[in-house]
Amino acid sequence: MAKVAFIGLGNMGGPMAANLCKAQHHVTAFDLSEAAVATAVEKGAHKAATAAEAVKDAEIIVTMLPAGKHVRDVYEKDVLPNAKKGALLIDCSTIDVESARHVAVEAKKAGFEMIDAPVSGGVGGATAGTLTFMVGGPEASFGKAKPILEKMGKNIVHAGESGNGQAAKICNNMILGISMIAVSEGFMLGKRLGLDAQKLFNVVSTASGSCWSLVNYCPVPGPVPTSPANRDYQPGFTAAMMLKDLLLAQQASAASGAATPLGAEAAQLFSLFVNGGNAGKDFSGIIRMLDGK
Ligand code: NAD
Repeated sequence: MAKVAFIGLGNMGGPMAANLCKAQHHVTAFDLSEAAVATAVEKGAHKAATAAEAVKDAEIIVTMLPAGKHVRDVYEKDVLPNAKKGALLIDCSTIDVESARHVAVEAKKAGFEMIDAPVSGGVGGATAGTLTFMVGGPEASFGKAKPILEKMGKNIVHAGESGNGQAAKICNNMILGISMIAVSEGFMLGKRLGLDAQKLFNVVSTASGSCWSLVNYCPVPGPVPTSPANRDYQPGFTAAMMLKDLLLAQQASAASGAATPLGAEAAQLFSLFVNGGNAGKDFSGIIRMLDGK
């Protein structure tokens, strides 16, 4: 049993912290939202009044925050000045590669081991403890973090040096955003050519156009009963989150000189969709905008 501090108890962090409690770890929880802390306490965590209080006795510190600015802030003001010597720092938020590498350097200067460990799998995976973790940081730190990550996920991958976990996450989600648009365009064209959606699904899901966006998350109602299309595009994974990740990918493309024209187009289309009042809809709902609805 380890002493774990958990900061950021939202849609993802809440269930992840609950799984650490279930695994008998001593979890001290903090979030700016008192309601989120109260829910964590119901699941077995101990309440901290501040982030500084949460981290002061912890052997392992996990953060699950919205974006790079929150992570920089919390590490600079709360974690690094107050964590005890030898604590292992794990940031699971999805943030820009530059912020991840900056915070890792600052942590090292302050004498701490740190990894970036963003996740894939959504709220369902966080609740079930089946997340995929993409980890950046030294091999030895990865080895130390693995047992705790295994209590929250099933697939734990070491992606290389600090920031590489974020790099893997951004590349994955850029592929996902583009492939969802591709599948949506295929179904719209099929509809206009008089093809039945189920018949098109039966063909493509066993043909060379098959992909995760089609097989697990089909954007039209019917073929995949669990997909958000069957519940009026309630998330799931919100369009706002997809746009955030596509913009992170564009930022990384510009910084690294990579040409990602379809990633850029996907970011533009998701930006239009989000700004059309769909930020809270599932990202697969973009088919409705593409279909002119
Ligand atoms: P969320 O908005 O539900 O939760 C974020 C939490 O952080 C909130 O409860 C907020 O109060 C808290 N917070 C913000 N600033 C804080 C601070 N300074 N100190 C303490 N708490 C603070 O977001 P989420 O859906 O849980 O996502 C968290 C991260 O996981 C994001 O980076 C997101 O991109 C990533 N992610 C989300 C999903 C998903 O499906 N929701 C999937 C994979 C990755």
